[in-house]
Amino acid sequence: MAGARDPIADLRRIAFLLERANEATYRVRAFRSASKALAGLPATEVAARADNGTLTELTGVGDVTARCVAESLAGEEPVYLRRLVATEGSDLDAEATALRAALKGDCHTHSDWSDGGSPIEEMALAAVELGHEYLVLTDHSPRLTVARGLTAERLRRQLDHVAQVNAALPEGFRILTGIEVDILADGSLDQDDELLARLDVVVGSVHSGLKDERSKMTRRMLAAVANPHLDILGHVTGRMVSSRPAGVTGPGDRGHRARTRAESDFDADAVFAACAEHDTAVEINSRPERQDPPKRLIRRALEAGCRFAINTDAHAPGQLDWQRFGCERAALCGVPADSVINTWPAEQLVAWTRERP
Ligand SMILES: [Zn+2]
Ligand SMILES: [Zn+2]
Repeated sequence: MAGARDPIADLRRIAFLLERANEATYRVRAFRSASKALAGLPATEVAARADNGTLTELTGVGDVTARCVAESLAGEEPVYLRRLVATEGSDLDAEATALRAALKGDCHTHSDWSDGGSPIEEMALAAVELGHEYLVLTDHSPRLTVARGLTAERLRRQLDHVAQVNAALPEGFRILTGIEVDILADGSLDQDDELLARLDVVVGSVHSGLKDERSKMTRRMLAAVANPHLDILGHVTGRMVSSRPAGVTGPGDRGHRARTRAESDFDADAVFAACAEHDTAVEINSRPERQDPPKRLIRRALEAGCRFAINTDAHAPGQLDWQRFGCERAALCGVPADSVINTWPAEQLVAWTRERP
């Protein structure tokens, strides 16, 4: 097998590129299932099965994925992968490219512990491949039952699990602990204080009552921003500018959410002033269907002196590369790299979340 490529890496790369290109979930799954099926077998068996054409007898391996494996083992870049690479890629302008290059991690991501589609390990490996130094894992909080929000007990178990996963990851990279905590109707946060204090990074978002009237929503957000546990205010307006992309399991995967949603109504200047005062970062959410906050509000937050976090809110590994969308929007608004907290190394980020007033 001289010159053979790693077929599992090729299958994972294809899944990643399909996901990033927002292709249908079933196509992504075909490649992930195949890579999982092969990962459990000795390389000699994979090679033997490629030789005698019995790869497709394995659960999770179909004709297309089997062909990719055979091509890999023959030392060729699979045709499927080559085509994907050739057709991908949108050019960012120089400023957006520089901003993207300055990012060292992602502060808002989900795993299959809540409504993400992939295990923590898979998310972490994709982040390593993107060149990140850290990934903040921010699964949902208990009240968001549709997204399998983590109870205090499950979150404690997740923290133990993350410690184990971290021990096995390449040096120089680590998963930081975190949460996307619901901002409840009264502005309080949906998790035990003791746990929020223990986490490296706390993102807080409004997921309910998005149509509440202006004064109520403003009070709710101001209370959350003033909470010393809250580090980042997530997808600030809650808007949906298009239907949800593929790759989101759980509530997003049922296909009946292909709706847009208006921005929630609140006093943005008051909220951003509070973010600046309490040193709470404003998230620039990169998801194509969110693009939240809209550019006019990013500019107002910048004028108010806020810090930012450019996050993907990824629910699948390929979506971790969506940061470039957030960077484009940030660059268009003139957001400087030094106001973006995830341009910092992990130590600085964690020191900041610990020291914040
Ligand atoms: Zn959210
Ligand atoms: Zn999220």
